[in-house]
Amino acid sequence: MTILPANIESFSKPVQQLWERMNPCTLCPRQCKINRGKGQMGFCGIGDRPLVSSVGPHFGEESVLVGGGGSGTIFFAGCNLGCVFCQNFDISHNRAGRKMTIEKLAQAMLGLQDYGCSNINFVTPTHVVAAITAAIELAQKEGLKLPTVYNTGGYDSVETLKLLEGFVDIYMPDMKYADSKVAEELSAAPDYPQVNFAAVKEMHRQVGDLQVKDGLATRGLLVRHLVLPENLAGSFEVIDFLAEQVSAKTTINVMGQYRSCYKASSHPKINRRPTFEEIESVRKYAIEKGLNVLD
Ligand code: SF4
Repeated sequence: MTILPANIESFSKPVQQLWERMNPCTLCPRQCKINRGKGQMGFCGIGDRPLVSSVGPHFGEESVLVGGGGSGTIFFAGCNLGCVFCQNFDISHNRAGRKMTIEKLAQAMLGLQDYGCSNINFVTPTHVVAAITAAIELAQKEGLKLPTVYNTGGYDSVETLKLLEGFVDIYMPDMKYADSKVAEELSAAPDYPQVNFAAVKEMHRQVGDLQVKDGLATRGLLVRHLVLPENLAGSFEVIDFLAEQVSAKTTINVMGQYRSCYKASSHPKINRRPTFEEIESVRKYAIEKGLNVLD
């Protein structure tokens, strides 16, 4: 039997459909097919209620998300990826956090708005989208006006993303790899490149290129790409894909802050920071291809 919140009928069809997709769970490309409503857990390790690690203004995000009041981040524990270099492994893999009801999640969003945050930034949302969309609906009824940011590792299925249309204003996916073998070795997700490329196309279809007003993002796609040593992130392919198959005006943050964390020390190729030349060659290539590269 599918277990849904008692008042599920009061939510919109997409929210109901997302909840159904947890029982059995096909929310993300892992397709674990376990019943999260019955307390079963799949790869992400989270049941049908989200585990929230932290809520608060964050000033370390991209400047177009920060503004005067910070980006209102809600950091979810658990993850559908298994990155050996995870920089948040306490939250993502050790699942540090507290369970939150949909009502509390909605209150958290309204609290961030009252605090003066520039947006509501859902960090690692893929495995808890049913609760997030339900909470957005509740919060909007109570006056939530801020743009929402879907801040994802980028391992998202197109079918689920389609149900998020209208709930998300700004998609901020990682594009981690262009090579299946690397994705398997470093994130236990051999299909990451094909899944991720399709997901980014769907995200762009929904919200288009990034729009910025008075220095703050209001809607659109903002891609994050973390440069790895030895071009393991397939940076040039990722850039070609964006420029040629998504939009030549795509906004991208080429990130150079990779450092060896978690289990990365057992993988010799990624047991070092990328060099200045490795990072700059990617930035330069993205600029040459015409992308909007953030400073
Ligand atoms: S959301 Fe979690 S349980 Fe569901 S398919 Fe993905 S990893 Fe598995």
